[in-house]
Amino acid sequence: MTEHIKCLIVGSGPAGYTAAIYAARAGLNPVLYTGIQPGGQLTMTTDVENFPGYPKGVQGQEMMEDLRQQAERFGTELRFGYISAVDFSSRPHKLTIDENKEITADAVIISTGASAKWLGLPSEERYNGFGVSACAVCDGFFFRGQDVAVVGAGDTAAEEATYLAKLCRRVYMLVRRDEFRASKTMENRVKKAGNIEVLYHTETKEIVGDEKGVNGVRVFNNQTNEDRLLDISGFFVAIGHKPNTDIFRPFVNTDEQGYITTVKGTTLTNVEGIFACGDVQDNVYRQAITAAGTGCMAALDAERYLAALEEQEEEELVEAGTNN
Ligand code: NDP
Repeated sequence: MTEHIKCLIVGSGPAGYTAAIYAARAGLNPVLYTGIQPGGQLTMTTDVENFPGYPKGVQGQEMMEDLRQQAERFGTELRFGYISAVDFSSRPHKLTIDENKEITADAVIISTGASAKWLGLPSEERYNGFGVSACAVCDGFFFRGQDVAVVGAGDTAAEEATYLAKLCRRVYMLVRRDEFRASKTMENRVKKAGNIEVLYHTETKEIVGDEKGVNGVRVFNNQTNEDRLLDISGFFVAIGHKPNTDIFRPFVNTDEQGYITTVKGTTLTNVEGIFACGDVQDNVYRQAITAAGTGCMAALDAERYLAALEEQEEEELVEAGTNN
């Protein structure tokens, strides 16, 4: 027999866990599949100092552990596993777990997040969380008054660089071509900043450091092949994000970058009973607190949907009884 779940939550970042807390407290008996990285992107961060309620800051891992416990406390059933395929073409919705188990669900809350793109250098991985970051708003504060570098030339990189310029002494922007991809407005903001030095035709060779973390980056000019060592303590990668939506795309509408599109002001997707929250539908704010906020919205939207579905099923039963 295929297992049927009333409210299924996919993903275990701040959005998924918040949805689980609200759904569990509303008596929806949610089941949450954690995905392959339980806790999501925040488990890769060290200190989180901007999430309200933690006046002394908190470790990313610890915060996700707190959220997990809070979700379980109200009865969320947590399962380790990932959704490998879906079929949202009819109701109830069908999902495959770990490529071998089929389940069905009335409401599905998608909170699979987005993954930052990385350069793929071994040194980038080695110093991740120790000077290497993909989020200036999260980690910029730790580099106040210091020199940092930002890789990328799109809107994200321009935004990260201008944000960091307000905190740091100097920001190097490493641009691999001779021009920006960012909008003119963002490019102008970079150029107006005064303490951002844009290095064109510049690519990263390796990030250097010691047991305390990053202390430099070796770059090269891809026109002249000249090497240069920049003394920096923070290295921010801003070459884009990839929303984790591949398996949903045949059914759920996404924008041209693959982010799920929701009805404005809600978490409703184009498919009835499918809701999306957190970074999987947010290309702009991408913060733990905004993800948690939309997680709450998704649970409330799912609750309303399930109540209406139940009423409809009862009416259909009564109607069938009358006709017999
Ligand atoms: P983009 O894809 O627009 O830009 C990525 C940048 O990273 C490009 O400049 C690209 O270089 C560079 N890059 C990619 N791979 C590498 C690499 N291996 N080494 C060095 N550089 C690399 O991503 P964004 O995240 O900047 O933006 C995504 C979308 O989100 C865009 O549509 C953007 O407009 C939007 N956005 C809007 C914001 C706003 O309106 N406030 C804020 C942030 C994003 P190259 O140009 O040479 O390809």
